[in-house]
Amino acid sequence: MKTRVVIVGGGTAGWLTAGIIAAKHCTVNNADTANIDIQQTEVILVESPDVKNLGVGEGTWPTMRDTLRQIGISERTFLSCCDANFKQGSKFVGWLDGESDHYYHPFMAPAGYGSVSLAEHWSATSRELNFESWVSSQGTVCQQNLAPKTSQMPEYAFGLNYGYHLNAGKFVSMLHQHCVEKLGVRYIQGHVEHVLPAENGDIASIVLVGGEHVDGDLFIDCSGFAAILIDKHYQIPFKSKQHILFNDTALALQVEHASDDVPIASCTVATAQKSGWVWDISLQNRRGIGHVFSSDFTDVEQAERALLKYVSNDPFLATKKLTPRKIKFTPGHRETFWHKNCVAIGVSAGFVEPLEATALVLIEKSAEWISQQLPRNRSAMTVLAKRFNQLTLQRWQEIIDFLKLHYVLTNRQDSEYWRAHQQPGSIPESLQDAMTLWRSQVPGLYEGNQRFELFSSASKQYVLYGMGFHTALAQSDLGRQEVLRVKRLRNETLHSTEKLLSALPTNRQFFSHLMKT
Ligand SMILES: Cc1cc2nc3c(=O)[nH]c(=O)nc-3n(C[C@H](O)[C@H](O)[C@H](O)COP(=O)(O)OP(=O)(O)OC[C@H]3O[C@@H](n4cnc5c(N)ncnc54)[C@H](O)[C@@H]3O)c2cc1C
Repeated sequence: MKTRVVIVGGGTAGWLTAGIIAAKHCTVNNADTANIDIQQTEVILVESPDVKNLGVGEGTWPTMRDTLRQIGISERTFLSCCDANFKQGSKFVGWLDGESDHYYHPFMAPAGYGSVSLAEHWSATSRELNFESWVSSQGTVCQQNLAPKTSQMPEYAFGLNYGYHLNAGKFVSMLHQHCVEKLGVRYIQGHVEHVLPAENGDIASIVLVGGEHVDGDLFIDCSGFAAILIDKHYQIPFKSKQHILFNDTALALQVEHASDDVPIASCTVATAQKSGWVWDISLQNRRGIGHVFSSDFTDVEQAERALLKYVSNDPFLATKKLTPRKIKFTPGHRETFWHKNCVAIGVSAGFVEPLEATALVLIEKSAEWISQQLPRNRSAMTVLAKRFNQLTLQRWQEIIDFLKLHYVLTNRQDSEYWRAHQQPGSIPESLQDAMTLWRSQVPGLYEGNQRFELFSSASKQYVLYGMGFHTALAQSDLGRQEVLRVKRLRNETLHSTEKLLSALPTNRQFFSHLMKT
């Protein structure tokens, strides 16, 4: 018998989930890739004609390369359809002192990561130097607006690890077309009005305006803030995290480049403001810029002024009258994510804020897990639901701790917002414990469950030491036999930085070449 997976919602969450499940279970049109599951699984996506997508998510993690490859989309198609640009990490400006201080959180781990801890050696010997440039070339490459690869390199291969900046609306259109035409996903346009329950409390079918019923075995709620199944039908409680992460409003703009030859940045720039921060994401043809802030500490007018000031101070942006789009949200997530035969993915499951672009990666990871473990029968589903809930809750806690870390480490005393972030009462115990540990040892490989963790210890090192955190290590704490190896790695990093600076094209050169060929 066929398993029918019904996805409600055609935003990024819906189409990524459809693509990931269908690529594994329903591949059609190609005898070579025809899967033995071909008759077993059917994926249907239902999308309301009346509710617009959120469509803000423009920064991805490097995981997106694997996701696109797995779904069967060529990188060239993706880059040109979605005006996409490479993202090599994030640059944080003004988070420490509120001045022009900055640091990078790049996607490349420190040199030797996994065998030698350069962070330990840096902490014990070289603290006066910038941590990121001591252990990696990527920040220096980003400063020059360089691409992470040359045009001759194969699709998805890299010289320096990268994700993307993309146009979310175009991304959804591309996924929609690919899923329907290449992966056999059935698309139904219709607004889900209510649910017909089965006797055991499962969802038997969803009912669309007009009366059409769509029945299924597994229902995936990707209906965004509407959360039509997980919230409206099952009323699974939402756990607000606003007492930890205060931001609850965003003002979003799309701003054109001033001309066709201005530089295209290699990373997301996150610039701290008095009551939040401004994101700045460079695509090939424009920039996505927005201010996310806490309405407890400022108002929309002030936030808008700060945003427009940021834009008008940048000579590489076109000067036009701009009207930001306002988005309100409560930072937090569901108490559980998989209930009965319904699982929530995307904003219906939760959203905290755009810092470190954690939303799309969580969608990819959740959809991948479900696709790998697609329940074969109803009793298997109950066990899998329990495991998914445990894992996803753990991931949310990890995200919340890691995002909060960015705020807690500040020295800023210039506004109530930053002072409140440093109050111990707003810091989760798990983060306080971790910070206690990091005062005497650097974040290392044995910290978490590496297989499932989202943020490696390398990411924690970049943020901690970028923000001036002190781990009290002395030279005498270092393994003697490692010292020579560290010297060699340092020389290699310096050498590789020089080589990359001379070999890599700028992002603009890369995309000009791509469009010509
Ligand atoms: C300010 C901001 C910045 C962000 N930046 C990033 C970023 O840089 N990186 C990142 O990874 N993420 C980011 N995100 C998050 C990202 O935008 C979302 O995770 C992503 O867009 C997924 O949204 P979604 O598909 O869950 O919901 P939506 O895009 O809202 O889609 C919901 C879908 O459900 C459908 N629907 C709703 N009700 C019904 C109904 N009754 N019947 C049928 N269909 C229905 C709608 O028609 C729509 O198709 C950001 C979010 C915000 C708010």
